[in-house]
Amino acid sequence: MSTPSVVPTRAGLESLPKYVPGRTVPGAIKLASNEVPAGPLPSVASAIAASAADINRYPDMGAWALVDRISTRFEVPQERIAVGCGSVALCQQLIQALCEPGDEVMFAWRSFEAYPILTQIVGATAVTVPLDAGHTHDLDAMLAAITPKTRLVFVCNPNNPTGTAVRRAELARFLDAVPPHVLVVLDEAYREFVTDREVPDGLELAAGRGNVAVLRTFSKAYGLAGLRVGYAVAPEQVTAALRQVYIPFSVNSLAQTAAIASLDAEEELLARCTKIVAERSRVRDALLETGYQVPETQANFVWLPLGEKTADFAEHALANKVIVRPFAGEGARVTIGNPDENEAFLTAARSFPALT
Ligand SMILES: *Cc1c(COP(=O)(O)O)cnc(C)c1O
Repeated sequence: MSTPSVVPTRAGLESLPKYVPGRTVPGAIKLASNEVPAGPLPSVASAIAASAADINRYPDMGAWALVDRISTRFEVPQERIAVGCGSVALCQQLIQALCEPGDEVMFAWRSFEAYPILTQIVGATAVTVPLDAGHTHDLDAMLAAITPKTRLVFVCNPNNPTGTAVRRAELARFLDAVPPHVLVVLDEAYREFVTDREVPDGLELAAGRGNVAVLRTFSKAYGLAGLRVGYAVAPEQVTAALRQVYIPFSVNSLAQTAAIASLDAEEELLARCTKIVAERSRVRDALLETGYQVPETQANFVWLPLGEKTADFAEHALANKVIVRPFAGEGARVTIGNPDENEAFLTAARSFPALT
């Protein structure tokens, strides 16, 4: 039964962009959400099962055991670590903690589609700076776009959905030039897939800088997308503010346990990433050979800047039982899966009639 209501919702809610999740179609291969193809390791699955015996209890609200484990692993003090319900929640918390209505949040476009949505939810103003011709962050243009109202700048490195990455020298130069009242957030959701040594480790760049935060997640390389847990490393005042705007108990106990077990099994999990990286080169080379443009990628996906052909490409892939993530009029993002899945995708890509 429908239940009509005359309760008004907030002004502007209807103009909020919608987050489009990767589709799931029974029987089709999902290469749409940048997940890793393998299920949990036995050690992680059994840690989750053991933790399930205690779910009548609230989780540790500060996730202190996990914070302690992250602190040891990455050699950063506990006070500089905040855990969140996926790093997407930490993006929102950062904006909530730093911005008042009218303050500006800057990010490249196209980049992670959650940034504009979260910015608008909080009532801040999004300022977008186009990627350069190589589909990479234009850090000089971003620097030039900073105003006295700018509070946050997201630099997604490698960038979702293009896979491109900024290198150490240019990012360090950018950080040196950003005024101290602006927090630069290095979103490193795909850090574990980076193979070019010139792509900097954000944690190294953030050390000793009072206006840099790094976001990492257990959803991608660590394979825990369904459990929702990520973390921020930031100056103490920023992590304290993140805790103030944290939804109480939002990182559940199974997620906390699984994240610790995943750090314990890190070598095994990163070995899986090495296989994905090898597949990434194979897939990109095959696409280039077929005649596609594919920017160099440091993540677990490739970007096909197909422009107006994007929607047709996604439909053609789906007709071949492969789900990609189209951004209409711009391009398609395709996650690297296991070799069979990638082969099915390449077969579809080779038979796309509108390619030439
Ligand atoms: C996937 C992703 C995240 C976060 O994912 P969570 O599952 O919320 O941890 C954050 N930033 C980027 C750029 C991503 O692609």
